[in-house]
Amino acid sequence: KFITLEGGEGSGKSTAIQRIADYLDSRSIPYIVTREPGGIEIAEKIRDIILDPKHTAMDARTEALLYAASRRQHLAEKVRPAIEQGILVLCDRFVDSSLVYQGYARGLGLENVWSINKFAIGDLLPDLTFYLDIAPEIGLKRIATSDDHEVNRLDLENLSFHYKVREGYKIIADMYADRIFVVDASRSQEEVAEEMIRQLEVRILK
Ligand code: C5P
Repeated sequence: KFITLEGGEGSGKSTAIQRIADYLDSRSIPYIVTREPGGIEIAEKIRDIILDPKHTAMDARTEALLYAASRRQHLAEKVRPAIEQGILVLCDRFVDSSLVYQGYARGLGLENVWSINKFAIGDLLPDLTFYLDIAPEIGLKRIATSDDHEVNRLDLENLSFHYKVREGYKIIADMYADRIFVVDASRSQEEVAEEMIRQLEVRILK
C-alpha cells in the first residue's frame, strides 16, 4: 500500500509520519518512510539542479518537468519495489505537491502539471493521501519557533503564496475526494496522529 502526506509549511507532516511509524512498529507491520528525492542518487541530483540558487534562469515548466523526473526515479527505484514486496510506503509529499505548488500556486495549470506527471507516475497513485490542513499564519509561526533554517527559506515566499498553496490543496482534495483525506492540523499532534491512524485502520489495514 502507498500512503502519502501533503500539507503546507508547519502542517506537522514529519511529526505525523513519526507517530504513524511508531504505530506500525507496534503492530509489526512492515513499512518504509520516504520523501522525494528519497536518497536516490539520480533523483537527488535532479533536485540539486532545481534548488541551486545560481539557477535563477530556471523556467517554471523546466522546474515542473524536473520535479516529475525526480519523482519518476524515486518511484521506480524505491517506492514501486517496496509496494511490490508488500511493504507499506509512507511518503512525505508526492504528485499532489506538484499539482498544488507548480500547477496552482506557480500558475502552470493543473491540467499541464497533471499531464507530465501522468507520464512520470503511470498508474501509480496513492491508496490514501492525508492532507494536513492548517492556516498559513499558524503553520509559519510553528516553524519560526522550532527551526531557524526553515525560516530563511520562508522569507523567499510570502504569506499570499502560502494562502494560494492552501487554496490549491483544497481544490485538489475536492477533485480527488475518494483518495485524499483532509486532516485539521491545527489540533494537537496527538489528536492529528490519532485521527490519521484511525483512518489507516479503516481504509488500509482492515
Ligand atoms: O515541507 P517540505 O520540506 O516538504 O517543503 C518543501 C518545499 O519545497 C515546499 O514548501 C515548497 O516550497 C517546495 N516544493 C515545491 N514543489 C514541489 C515540492 C516541494 O515547490 N513539488
